[in-house]
Amino acid sequence: MMADGPAAQSAKVLCRACPDYEQKKVDEAVEAVFAFCSNAQRLGPHSHVLLKPNLLAKHPPERAVTTHPAVVAACIRACIRRGVLPQHITVADSPGGRWSPGGMRAVYTCTGIQEVCDTLGAEAYLDCQAGVRQTDGRRVRSFELMQPALQADFIIDLPKVKTHVMTGMTCAVKNLFGMVPGLSKAEFHMRFPKPEVFGDMLVDLCETVRPDMIVADGVTAMEGDGPASGMPYALGLILGGQNAYEVDLVVCRIMGVLPQRVPYLAAAMARKLCPACATEDLIDGDVQAAAPRAEFHLPSSMMDITFAQKAPRAIRWVVPGAEKWIAPRPKVHRALCVGCGKCAEICPGDAIRVRNGKASIFRNRCIRCFCCHEMCPVRAIEVHRFALFRR
Ligand code: SF4
Ligand code: SF4
Repeated sequence: MMADGPAAQSAKVLCRACPDYEQKKVDEAVEAVFAFCSNAQRLGPHSHVLLKPNLLAKHPPERAVTTHPAVVAACIRACIRRGVLPQHITVADSPGGRWSPGGMRAVYTCTGIQEVCDTLGAEAYLDCQAGVRQTDGRRVRSFELMQPALQADFIIDLPKVKTHVMTGMTCAVKNLFGMVPGLSKAEFHMRFPKPEVFGDMLVDLCETVRPDMIVADGVTAMEGDGPASGMPYALGLILGGQNAYEVDLVVCRIMGVLPQRVPYLAAAMARKLCPACATEDLIDGDVQAAAPRAEFHLPSSMMDITFAQKAPRAIRWVVPGAEKWIAPRPKVHRALCVGCGKCAEICPGDAIRVRNGKASIFRNRCIRCFCCHEMCPVRAIEVHRFALFRR
């Protein structure tokens, strides 16, 4: 059933089939999300809107790493149709690595966002300023956030639907981490090295930012070792709603990821912020198009059974001590490494050195955040798995 009006109580995530990025089709799907979300009725000439796409790094749209410019354009147009002044619409992100105007200009240009903003009169944010917002989170009492997030009175989260080697999947909730400026993100990885605690921090962040709407780009999603080294997957969907956890639950359902294994969703469930899974009742729109995809490739870091279950009986006694040695970890593929140093710059554990044009990782310093895997521009960092778990 197509939803034309505000979200019904029992259906909170709208899924609209959208087979490709032809602008007209994307416009229709995104307009359906705006019509579905009652918060969109608040938009008007007084609004200052932040659009937060996933612009992880300098990648062209066809790599499926970043939110597609056609989705960003459709959102800008939907805001303008509701009376928002183009000059009051800001598109902003803070990808991994150093946050600088020059770096952002290159990212906006490569991802196609600059052209969209120039055409429609919106601002692609370059100032790279940040401020602090106090919060009463469980893990964090204040977040340093990009200035547009502090100034906007309406935030639209525009994630890309992708797998993620650290968190299993990434969509609406994890995308908000890009509001934390530049290298400050590395400090959070260092402060919260355990995935479940990092996930709890992301819930604090989501509760602090509270996006008014989510429009997720799942037209071409990413499968495999996302968020940067996976492969494009033709999912053909735009998803939207007002609750970031629920959008992510629906994505888990489609990908075949158990939500309890996504640390921030497990943390949100523990706080009773979302249900334990997405049943069909949570979905409106093209329910069939949002059916689980059995062939979807998950990240190689996701072990579907634990070592304790799979190890030969005779050696199970070593399990607790062996955990840290058998967990998936990053490994440099030296033949591919071009020695750019981006991985070393982002590494929160200071575990990477680049010598003679090649990176190497000091295992004892690595906290397995996989930021290096995310940032490597040439996919030279692999997810290495203990032999027993390789498929
Ligand atoms: S080496 Fe990679 S995975 Fe390990 S701490 Fe550094 S960035 Fe994180
Ligand atoms: S591993 Fe990748 S990011 Fe690191 S130095 Fe080599 S090419 Fe650059």
